[in-house]
Amino acid sequence: MSGIEKFYKLLRNKTPLVCMLAPSFIADFDYPEIIWKLQALGFDKVVELTFGAKMTNIFYHKVIKEDKSKSWIASPCPTLVQLIKNKYPHLVGNLVPVHSPMGCMSLICRKFYPKHRIVFIGPCISKKVESAEIGSVDLALTYRELEEIFKNKKVGNGRKKKLTFNKFYNDYTKIYPLPGGLSDTLHYKGILKKSEILIEDGIDKITKILDNMKGPKYKNYLFLDFLSCRDGCIGGPGMTVIGTIEEKTDRVLKYREFARRSEKDLGRRGKIVHVDDIDFSRKI
Ligand code: SF4
Repeated sequence: MSGIEKFYKLLRNKTPLVCMLAPSFIADFDYPEIIWKLQALGFDKVVELTFGAKMTNIFYHKVIKEDKSKSWIASPCPTLVQLIKNKYPHLVGNLVPVHSPMGCMSLICRKFYPKHRIVFIGPCISKKVESAEIGSVDLALTYRELEEIFKNKKVGNGRKKKLTFNKFYNDYTKIYPLPGGLSDTLHYKGILKKSEILIEDGIDKITKILDNMKGPKYKNYLFLDFLSCRDGCIGGPGMTVIGTIEEKTDRVLKYREFARRSEKDLGRRGKIVHVDDIDFSRKI
């Protein structure tokens, strides 16, 4: 059964649905119009992945601070995780054992919306594999599939009502889909020097580095912030084809600026205290 057919099945079941939208959405869709379109489709709640990304960052900070014996490799990119598992098994212990923003956000949604089924929508085909592995996401769709669903269900561009996400946090992890977005939002001062972080995107360049990584450390780097798609997630295979990478990057940056200026309603800490009891660690 295709992802789209699975989604229609979920709709037919009439169980309330929560949509977790990846931060790259803004590169392909307009905000806040996308919220209305998702609601028109049948989603009861629409959340951004940013609070999940915040929790990912908090635990990365802790892991890196506590163990500097190796070059930690970022694990939110499932293609990279699979590559390391299959081709570089000696480096599996270098992957940060913390859930990706999708994984963290799904655990948060399970707590806040226990009766809902959870649908992730993003630019990534490999998230389908990760969601099956972690078991807390009911379905992962791509933006391409979402566009097709909008078309099939005749959800148009009509209404631009003032709407917002179901929010947990005002966060600026909205640049996560860009190369270096994770380390940029990690607040790493005090645990890492800038020169100890290596940012890379594109499977060819990453493979060359991993081929040369014989032991637990790669040169003097303590954190390898890698995304396997060229140009990061905004270059992901599930993005729609409209727009250049430059335009998509610009839209992500402008959306972050908009949020900084206009979305301050939850303060600096949001609902962080309410997720103290969730275990965000991940066995890889
Ligand atoms: S870089 Fe590509 S494969 Fe990796 S998480 Fe982003 S979209 Fe998915």
